[in-house]
Amino acid sequence: MPSARKDRTLRRMAKEIRQCRKCSLSQRRKNAVPGEGPSNARIFLVGEAPGKAEDEKGEPFVGMAGRVLDEALKKAGLHRSKVFITSVLRCRPPNNRNPKAKEIAACRPYLESYVETISPRVLVALGSYGLRGLVGKTLKVGETRGKRLDYKGTPVIATYHPAAVLYNRKLMRKLVSDLKKAKSKSQAKRSRGG
Ligand code: SF4
Repeated sequence: MPSARKDRTLRRMAKEIRQCRKCSLSQRRKNAVPGEGPSNARIFLVGEAPGKAEDEKGEPFVGMAGRVLDEALKKAGLHRSKVFITSVLRCRPPNNRNPKAKEIAACRPYLESYVETISPRVLVALGSYGLRGLVGKTLKVGETRGKRLDYKGTPVIATYHPAAVLYNRKLMRKLVSDLKKAKSKSQAKRSRGG
């Protein structure tokens, strides 16, 4: 898809998401949080759901977990401005509770449209919900890291959510290593199902 068309699609989707009422999370949110990043991004990150800071600002990963993500990206030789970031849900669950299956299902078409529009070289699932959003199954990150996974033929790298690193700094090394893998895959020739 030409970049001008991709940019138009992303703007249209952001508008639609900000007005979305497809699940009950719309009732208590301050702001829905559309995906963010360049339309030609080769790396596409999928988190869990907006938290308090994201809900306030209407932007993804702007709270403490966002600072961890920025640090990890920098250590991996990447920059936020070069990657696309979204989540399984685009509205904050009350008190940051876990996403419900019906909410994930209601919000999934946006994730699918984002991946189709961006057409990244590699997808990075941040945490078990990011993984569930992409592969459709509940899997533990610790047991899934390093396994070959794909979403409609695009490779998926499973790694820890930056919020988990806040509680266990030892996971930073693993998050950075997985982001380095994503960087290397994004630079390789496009491979389907790799
Ligand atoms: S979480 Fe997703 S489906 Fe639910 S209201 Fe927000 S944008 Fe719509």
